[in-house]
Amino acid sequence: MRKFPEPIQNAVAGLSRLPGVGPKTALRFVYYLLKIPKAEVLQLSRSLAALTEKIQTCTRCYTYGESELCEICADARRDASILCVVEEPRDISTVESTGVYKGRYFVLGGVLNPIEGMTPDALRIHELAERLQNDAGVAEIILALSPTVQGESTMMYLSKRLAPLGRKVTRLARGLPIGATIEYADEVTLGDALKGRRDA
Ligand SMILES: [Zn+2]
Repeated sequence: MRKFPEPIQNAVAGLSRLPGVGPKTALRFVYYLLKIPKAEVLQLSRSLAALTEKIQTCTRCYTYGESELCEICADARRDASILCVVEEPRDISTVESTGVYKGRYFVLGGVLNPIEGMTPDALRIHELAERLQNDAGVAEIILALSPTVQGESTMMYLSKRLAPLGRKVTRLARGLPIGATIEYADEVTLGDALKGRRDA
């Protein structure tokens, strides 16, 4: 790549770290940002700064929120007897969009993938077990992980690991395309999979 002024190089380097963005796309973004009104660029940079200043991780479910407890954990109207285990915070909005789930969540932080360093210790499995030990009100745990090879082995691991705690452990009904991730599941299919959940 030809030598660009340092601020451009830095912005390209930063943007190319985003998922799915290579140096070429990053450079396109930078040229775009240089072309639009300065106020818009400043607005964007302020909103990025606000992510680091105002967003925190919920101490109970590990999703993102604006206070120590996220909106869902703080909402007394949510059913505290069901806990839906998801991989990442983004999966919560996917499940919420189905409109069929009224319980609470727990963000595992990924799925088992030992080759990439995702061992049981790298996930919040210990935290999940601890949460259940401290919260006798949770009667059912729904494992809403993606039906990929890694997701399947994680669900098997979890149902074994959680069995001694004596709670009902369920998983989504078949119907989600095998190998697909929850992130890209459509609302109707995911909603049906939730309603038809079965024992794990
Ligand atoms: Zn929470």
